[in-house]
Amino acid sequence: MSKVGFVSLGCPKALVDSERILTQLRVDGYDIVNSYDGADVVVVNTCGFIDSARDESLVAIGEAINENGKVIVTGCLGVYEDQIRAAHPGVLSVTGPQQYEQVVAAVHQHAPKPAHDPYTDLVPEQGIKLTPRHYAYLKISEGCNHKCSFCIIPSMRGRLVSRAIDDVMREAEALARSGVKELLVISQDTSAYGSDIKYQSGDWHGQAYDSSFMDLCRALGELGIWVRLHYVYPYPHVDKIIPLMNEGKLLPYLDVPFQHGSPRILKLMRRPAAAEDTLQRINAWREICPDITIRSTFIVGFPGESEEDFDELLGFLDEAQLDRVGCFKYSNVDGARANELPDAVAEKVKEARWQRFMEKQNQISAQKLENKVGKTLEVLIDEINENEAIGRSHADAPEIDGQVIIENTDGLKPGDQVKVLIEASGDYDLWGKVVA
Ligand code: SF4
Repeated sequence: MSKVGFVSLGCPKALVDSERILTQLRVDGYDIVNSYDGADVVVVNTCGFIDSARDESLVAIGEAINENGKVIVTGCLGVYEDQIRAAHPGVLSVTGPQQYEQVVAAVHQHAPKPAHDPYTDLVPEQGIKLTPRHYAYLKISEGCNHKCSFCIIPSMRGRLVSRAIDDVMREAEALARSGVKELLVISQDTSAYGSDIKYQSGDWHGQAYDSSFMDLCRALGELGIWVRLHYVYPYPHVDKIIPLMNEGKLLPYLDVPFQHGSPRILKLMRRPAAAEDTLQRINAWREICPDITIRSTFIVGFPGESEEDFDELLGFLDEAQLDRVGCFKYSNVDGARANELPDAVAEKVKEARWQRFMEKQNQISAQKLENKVGKTLEVLIDEINENEAIGRSHADAPEIDGQVIIENTDGLKPGDQVKVLIEASGDYDLWGKVVA
């Protein structure tokens, strides 16, 4: 049987691309292997978002060429084919993101397609997943219609293309049936879902649902599993889904990439919903669903960011009291419009601002976690180590947020949902014991 090695780099959206390619390769009868030397060909799914990700992708391609020699490159870095071929002239083929068919065709070309019957060889209903079997990413759209000045994703992944609601729900339901306990909804702009296909209507279990953010949330809420929303922008229509969180249909969790707190900088960034009164919106969400966890990411040191703008950002953090926050120091990305903006911020100023930002936010996050001590939380177990179990509460997305560390591991296994009494807290994580 022909064997394919696979290296998957980048964000959850790239991971979903990898899963689609792997699923098709398994349907075609290929064996997927974990080592370079046993593989007939190696596919490297790359990331090209920022310079460090590009470097990492080029290194990964080089490693695959050294170790195996037959390498097919795909993913976001694939749009820079010249750069890839200049660094690694030996690659067999280069394609961009979402070019699943071309990747599979390249594999067929360079490793003989096995004689295979997809009806007798087992491919799990949910396809091949790179995540543990109890959670999965659900990609509802590709591309983005915004023009944020620091971002090149629209030029790499194209304009917004939403999947129809019935297609999304079929996948979501198959995942739930296969044992997935948590769906992580991803896209570049989840709140814009369906706007490109005029919110076309679809049928799911005999009921009409629009391909809209609201109906998607309503339908996903019927599955009876955790549903976590990522990449949501603070538009007024988002308010309407917050009651579903209060009713327990969706996790009370919103990942909203605010990026800054100064309206002037948000305008320079050309951010979606930059004109909205974000603080008012956050307060309204908390009024409807007091338990909501709000996660966000920010950029410090954007060109033109003055001391006043930065102070405004710190003031925003004070007021917003966000639960989970990531922060990046701005850096130019090849091809982004922000590169042409005047008044670049010096590296040491960026560093100092990043430190101040993190200090402030760490205090806020730590306080928020401390408030959970003594409470009993529902926790989904991710892994069991020698002496402890690692899980996540409603407030924790995998990879990016904190964890709940549990000492009494007896009988626990990944995918279990248990009640945990929280006994201690740190800057990011919680510690507790299973009580039910
Ligand atoms: S919303 Fe902005 S940052 Fe996000 S993908 Fe679109 S252009 Fe890039």
